[in-house]
Amino acid sequence: MVIVGIIMLACITVLILYPRFIEKNFETVIEIPLNESFSKYEDVCYGNVFDCHGVDVKEEGEVDTSKIGEYNIKYIFSYDNNELVRNQVVKVIDNKAPTLEVNGEDFRYCPNGKIPKYEVTAIDDYDGDISDKVEVRAEGDKLLFVVKDSSLNETKVFKDARKIDEEKPVITLNGEDKIYIEVGNNYEELGAKAVDNCDGDISDNIEMIGNVNTSEAGEYEITYQIKDSSGLDNSVKRTIFVYQKAKVNEKGSKNVYLTFDDGPSAYTGELLDVLKKYNVKATFFVTAQNTSKGYDDMIKRAYNEGHSIGIHSYTHSYSYIYYSVDNYFEDLTNMQNKIYNLTGYKSTIVRFPGGSSNTISKNYDNGTHIMSTLTKMLAAKGYRYFDWNVLSGDAGETTDTNQIVKNVTSNLKSGASVVLQHDTKNFSTKAVERIIKYGIENGYNFLPLTMESPTVEHKVNN
Ligand code: ZN
Repeated sequence: MVIVGIIMLACITVLILYPRFIEKNFETVIEIPLNESFSKYEDVCYGNVFDCHGVDVKEEGEVDTSKIGEYNIKYIFSYDNNELVRNQVVKVIDNKAPTLEVNGEDFRYCPNGKIPKYEVTAIDDYDGDISDKVEVRAEGDKLLFVVKDSSLNETKVFKDARKIDEEKPVITLNGEDKIYIEVGNNYEELGAKAVDNCDGDISDNIEMIGNVNTSEAGEYEITYQIKDSSGLDNSVKRTIFVYQKAKVNEKGSKNVYLTFDDGPSAYTGELLDVLKKYNVKATFFVTAQNTSKGYDDMIKRAYNEGHSIGIHSYTHSYSYIYYSVDNYFEDLTNMQNKIYNLTGYKSTIVRFPGGSSNTISKNYDNGTHIMSTLTKMLAAKGYRYFDWNVLSGDAGETTDTNQIVKNVTSNLKSGASVVLQHDTKNFSTKAVERIIKYGIENGYNFLPLTMESPTVEHKVNN
């Protein structure tokens, strides 16, 4: 017994005193939260419980605490020739739920279960902005907003909500709300589009009331009606003007002659598009001022599209053309030839730069009263000149398109109206569509000037 006891005691003593690596609290797997600092394991010594020495440590492997993942660290502890190797797995984890903010006051959802879009902001410390991952569902009288980050940490926000639809569907026309069609042309129904907060696109349910008879001039109206699944309705209207175009040279009232001086220019093409849209013919008193800019093709196009081409001036230089009768006719012939070369048409309608009533010619004609001579000579040579009786004001009075529209539309005559505009001025050409619409809606005919048109001439002042 005693011997056994002695042996055991000796063994225990040896165990206690025998030198070795002593580790405290080593874990083979540890978890650390994202972005928290990681400290390496170092609680190791060599010796025995009574006398333990510090050891050398070597580690292999790195931990990036800003990135979720598993990292392997190998520790090599050494003392004299003794070595201890330990492997540790470090798991960097995200255990922090994202923040979720839901903005709004009056929360509601549709009777059919559709939930409107609410403004939400979800930010996760690891994933960043995950607002687009927010899911919403209705739970009785609440809306539940939920968002999960990539580590499945979840945040929920409840909002009191009403199950109700108080929003009318929104209905918008495809195309214009006013359409102008000449009698005999087709009316193309472009329909409308209806979108509802609860039902989505319900364009197919639109009901159209009214019809258009394109064989009879008149004003037609089509109403587009829509009702959503909650019974809320809305409507829009379109007016279709079916008009009878006046025949060229038709004598009678309310004839408007739109005339454009000084072009062609960069704006002439757009203007021609508008005239084409309404099938309106106008008159262009052209010059060669912009020939170098390459707009001459517009003279050809205007002619081909049925507009009248008149002679304004080749140079548009007052000091040159009003210096002498010869100068004037040389300039006029140059322009006439240019038009002829572009179109094959020999124009004999004329507009004087400054109009026949101008007094600026007095500055250059050496007292010869050149305007009195020129007006007579033009007639003798088979030309006709046209002045105007409706001023758009685009020659200096205004640069405002609204004002141009007003100046023209409020001054149209019951007989012939010759309107003066300049297609070298964009603010003026932009007014033309509205002028035409006004004219059509108010029973005016738009005609080009010809040798047979009514006379609109100013009093000659020089
Ligand atoms: Zn001019």
